[in-house]
Amino acid sequence: MARMPGAAFHRVRNYTADGQQSVRGVVVHIMAGTLEGSQAWFNNATAQASSHFGTGRDGELRQWVDTADRAWAQAAGNRDWISVENEGVGGDALTDAQITANARVLAWAHTTYDVPLQLAKSPSDRGLGYHAMGGAAWGGHTQCPGPRIVAQLPTILARAKQLVANTQETPVADLTDAQIQRIALAVWRYMNEGQGETSDAYAYLRNTKAVVDDVKEITNRTGGQVVEQRVILTALMALLKTVDGKLDQLLEGQA
Ligand SMILES: [Zn+2]
Repeated sequence: MARMPGAAFHRVRNYTADGQQSVRGVVVHIMAGTLEGSQAWFNNATAQASSHFGTGRDGELRQWVDTADRAWAQAAGNRDWISVENEGVGGDALTDAQITANARVLAWAHTTYDVPLQLAKSPSDRGLGYHAMGGAAWGGHTQCPGPRIVAQLPTILARAKQLVANTQETPVADLTDAQIQRIALAVWRYMNEGQGETSDAYAYLRNTKAVVDDVKEITNRTGGQVVEQRVILTALMALLKTVDGKLDQLLEGQA
C-alpha cells in the first residue's frame, strides 16, 4: 500500500488491485475536464479509466488509486508508471499551483520508489514523462498533455529537486521533541474523547518515540514548512489513518 502524505485520498472504482508491477516514473496528463468531473468518471465502470493522482487548477492534490494498484491512464504504460491527471483542457498550460502539485508527486515518487529526478522521453526511460511519449502503445494520445505542458516539465523537475533538497537540509524543521510530544498528546485527546482505549492507534500514540520519529519524517516530507500546530496535526492525522482506518469517523467534528 502506498498513499502519498498530503494528497487527499478518494478511492475510485476503476483500477486493478495489486496491479502495479514497477514504478519507472510519473506520467503527466491533461483531463479535458474538472477535478470533480474526472473523479466521477473514474467511478463509472463504463469509463474504463482512472489515474493515481489528480490536481485542481488551484493546486488541490488528490490520490484516487493506491500506487500498489494499477490505474488505467495510459494503456500499455499502466503497469510501470504512476499517473497524474491535471484539471484543464487540451492546449492549456498548468497553473503555477499545479506545477508545484506535480513536483510534490514526483518528489514523493523519488523518495518512495527511487524514481530518478530526470525527464523521460520514452517508455524505456525513467523519470518524469508525459502521455504522448508512449505513442500508439499508450493509446495514441498525441495531444496529451499538449506542447505547453510538455514545455513546463523541466520546471516541475526543478521544483521536485528543490523539494527533495529542502527535505535533506531540514532534518527536524522548527519543532522540538517537546513540542511534538504535546501535539501527539493533543491528538490523543481528540481520539480518546471518541472511543475506548483499545485501538491500534491508541497503542501507537502511547509509543512516544514512534510518534516523534513519524512526525519528524512528515515534517521533512513537507519541506520543513510546518509553521503551526494545525498543519502538523493534519499531517499526523493523515498518518494515523494508515494505523487505524476508523479515525475518519472518530475525528469527525472534532478535528
Ligand atoms: Zn493522457
